[in-house]
Amino acid sequence: MVGRASLRAAVKSLCRNSGSSVASRQQIVVRVNSKLKTSAFAASHSAAPARRLQNSKLARLVPALLDWFAKNARDLPWRRTRDPYAIWVSEIMLQQTQVKTVIPYWERWLRELPTFAAVAKAGPNKIHKLWEGLGYYTRARNLQWAAKQIMEKHGGKFPRNFDDVLALPGVGRYTAGAICSIAFSQPTPILDGNVIRVLTRIFGIAGNPKEKETNARLWKLAEALVLNAGGARLRRAQTSFTKSPTNHKKRHGPTESRPTENTNHSFLNQSLMELGALVCTPRNPQCGVCPVKKLCVALRENRVNELPDLGKREAATARRFVAFVAEQNGRFLVRQRPAGVVNAHLWEFPNVEILNGKSDPKLLAKNILGAKPPKLQPLCTVIHSITRYRITLEAFRAQLRETSHTNSSKMGIWKTPAQMQQLAFTAAHKKLASAAFDCILSAR
Ligand code: SF4
Repeated sequence: MVGRASLRAAVKSLCRNSGSSVASRQQIVVRVNSKLKTSAFAASHSAAPARRLQNSKLARLVPALLDWFAKNARDLPWRRTRDPYAIWVSEIMLQQTQVKTVIPYWERWLRELPTFAAVAKAGPNKIHKLWEGLGYYTRARNLQWAAKQIMEKHGGKFPRNFDDVLALPGVGRYTAGAICSIAFSQPTPILDGNVIRVLTRIFGIAGNPKEKETNARLWKLAEALVLNAGGARLRRAQTSFTKSPTNHKKRHGPTESRPTENTNHSFLNQSLMELGALVCTPRNPQCGVCPVKKLCVALRENRVNELPDLGKREAATARRFVAFVAEQNGRFLVRQRPAGVVNAHLWEFPNVEILNGKSDPKLLAKNILGAKPPKLQPLCTVIHSITRYRITLEAFRAQLRETSHTNSSKMGIWKTPAQMQQLAFTAAHKKLASAAFDCILSAR
């Protein structure tokens, strides 16, 4: 039997919340000439009246967005640096994950793996453990793969060329655009869910953004905006974020920040992301305080709730699994998922998907654990959603006899709670581990 103290330590670790919060807001000090000149991009495309109208709208949008961002941007830790390594890690983590969730992961990752070389050399368990709970683990594996390429092909320095950045594993057009604009002040556009929502509403674009034509139109608008931002004259281009470095910056010396450099491309892109996150939200957007409300077609035409037109959402698919928390002499049976499957290389309790609706736990236990457990009790049910799946995981506690050990190499590996803390579990099985240990503790 496992000791209470050992189980409590395991529960605490498995439920751990790194607990870091967003730092207090600080203002970005950047001012834009209100008489903005349109860029070469805009000028070369200004023949038609419709185009002229759009250019004049772009020229009004850019200073409004930059001024708003200067006053309202959140002081996020990765905004205090121009270090491409730190920005790259933040952008990969922010794919499909919210800012408040990412902050403690980002801080821990940079503390534990402060350089490309450290990421390239790290063992797979270290990479997975640092990512545990963030989900979409391919991102973590791609980070390491990309770090290896940066060490081998780029001499350990993050490439500045957009196409080289785009060629890195795990980096798509949005992420390459974000990194190049934020770290290197390049006029590279970005288009993600937040930016799509903002642009479709401001310009009243009705088509589905996933369709080729609408998508291309949105990329063009994003490009026109970021290029126009380059034409905005700055009075001061230093942010108070860069004056107040993070610990990361203190440890690693000056970043690539250049206080006199035009940061408008970076801030314009970030203003679109920020507006989508804070004001132009999917539900109940704050149009009353929106800096571009006078230019917004959706607001003028009362179509805010219609845009963007994302089509019908696919209904969630229910999937049911039965899992066994098998216990023997203070150890638990766990197994590692193989390569090439969802959540590859992560750990889990032995389990099976129930496809025909019927399940006899005793029979399942015999098949999965290789022995009929003398004691089998219902333990808990974990509900977990991942992508379009709603997963129900029914767990049973199985106490096995000593002789069952012989099958451990085939069925999994026996680990103590302390050893389990070192392993990276899938999100559903991490929930199961903490719920299971709680149940076992309270039953004693
Ligand atoms: S006015 Fe409303 S709908 Fe239009 S961009 Fe602003 S928040 Fe979004």
